[in-house]
Amino acid sequence: MTIKSIAVYCAASASLDEKYKLLAQEMGQEIAKHKKRLVYGGGNTGLMKEVSHGCHDAGGHVLGISTEHLKDLELINHDVTEVRIAEGMQPRKMQMFLEADAFIILPGGLGTLEELFEVLTWKQIGLHTKPIVFINFHGFWDPIFKLIEHLVAERATPHNTKDLYQVVSTPDAVWDALEKADLSPFDSSQKWGK
Ligand code: AMP
Repeated sequence: MTIKSIAVYCAASASLDEKYKLLAQEMGQEIAKHKKRLVYGGGNTGLMKEVSHGCHDAGGHVLGISTEHLKDLELINHDVTEVRIAEGMQPRKMQMFLEADAFIILPGGLGTLEELFEVLTWKQIGLHTKPIVFINFHGFWDPIFKLIEHLVAERATPHNTKDLYQVVSTPDAVWDALEKADLSPFDSSQKWGK
């Protein structure tokens, strides 16, 4: 599968450390440089703002998908290629999912967790085989990986759960990960062990 569009899930918070803002800008620039389309939540705050401006300013194509409700909370970056207003949170997430060939996870809060667990669990039950790549910059997502190890150890999740995603630490490493991504369906025969 040729990857043309990449959805980035990330924080709407503007209070994150500067290094994460620079990271999001760099991710946007990388997407533009590799001539992929950025699909994101349409916001103009926090890392959402940084990734969209980073991509757009570097000449990239950006599709932002927001909702009427979020217009005041997260603002909308109209300075992108295309803005869509979805009819609610679920349609917004579905549009982002359908428009993307791969998912990149930057630092984020509860909304990012919600979005990333949805694409992980949909992959686990065989609804898609699209690559999911965490940018574990400065170990931001280490607690998630620890939690998954715990779930595996307790046999609450299959021992091959790690096959659902890839982990890199910087935006430039995403391309190699995408090239190596296993596009076969998740092996759900593994179950949970004894
Ligand atoms: P956060 O990581 O909390 O800053 O949120 C990142 C993005 O996830 C924001 O655009 C939120 O609007 C969005 N979000 C928050 N909650 C949900 C939800 N339940 N379903 C879909 N998106 C959400």
